Amino acid sequence: MERWSGRVALVTGASSGIGAAVAYQLQDHGVHIVAVARRVDKIEEAVAKARTDAKTRGRYHESKAKPGKLYAKKCDVSKEEDILALFKWIKETLGGVDILINNAGLVKMAGTTNASTEDWKIQLDVNVLGLSICTREAVQNMRARGVDDGHIIHISSTAGHEVLTCHIAMYCAAKSAVRALTEGLRKDFVEHKSNMKVTCLCPGLTRTELANNFPNINIEELYKLPYLNPEDVGDAVLYALGTPPHVQIHEIIIKPVGEQ
Ligand code: NDP
Repeated sequence: MERWSGRVALVTGASSGIGAAVAYQLQDHGVHIVAVARRVDKIEEAVAKARTDAKTRGRYHESKAKPGKLYAKKCDVSKEEDILALFKWIKETLGGVDILINNAGLVKMAGTTNASTEDWKIQLDVNVLGLSICTREAVQNMRARGVDDGHIIHISSTAGHEVLTCHIAMYCAAKSAVRALTEGLRKDFVEHKSNMKVTCLCPGLTRTELANNFPNINIEELYKLPYLNPEDVGDAVLYALGTPPHVQIHEIIIKPVGEQ
């Protein structure tokens, strides 16, 4: 990870869960973090809490690096104008990004035959189009600066491998699209004879706020199932970023032990 010290990572969806954990892990390894979400006022507190939670669980990894800075910025990734304004700010203030963690996401209970178009659309807008626009802007920024070792990490899901139930089929379709976009980006890098990397992470059930707005779900019952903690996914981010220049970790599936 030493080579990333002093460089810049954009982490989307950093006001909670996996994004907050990835943000503190990269920050503590010396990376400057642009942490974004709609609830910008929650970001710093969420990142600090994710660090404390990992320490409490004995899952915190010390690093010798001087911690990076954290810039909390408001950005709704379902709005292209927000993303473009964010990249303009990054370019003017920090020069650009070297790492992009495409983590912002949401799931709706929105079945195949009974959901509103709005509930389908927002899942595609955030999980697929927002991720794609951030990727395009990050890669164009890296190319313009002559950065050829950048790394894009997409957070997909085991739901991108398996349609778990008809009630979240559009979420599964979105996460499956993220896997296709991973291979598309890898082929783009090959075509450009670029050394940039793309990695897709597919976690199983992770204890975050994601399921909080499911109607009729008892959260305590849900987490009687085996689950991961956010820093478990962050560890996979560190692993993928820490590989030597010729190694691309294409995809990692992470399941809690005992998942059905
Ligand atoms: P959380 O609900 O805890 O966090 C989701 C994050 O995404 C929040 O920071 C939220 O910020 C942000 N977000 C949602 N919509 C937008 C938007 N329109 N613009 C910007 N940010 C947005 O969930 P997780 O940490 O679990 O989810 C992170 C990723 O991991 C998602 O892509 C999810 O699909 C994926 N995942 C989660 C699993 C799980 O079991 N939890 C399993 C597999 C994958 P804000 O509301 O402030 O905008």
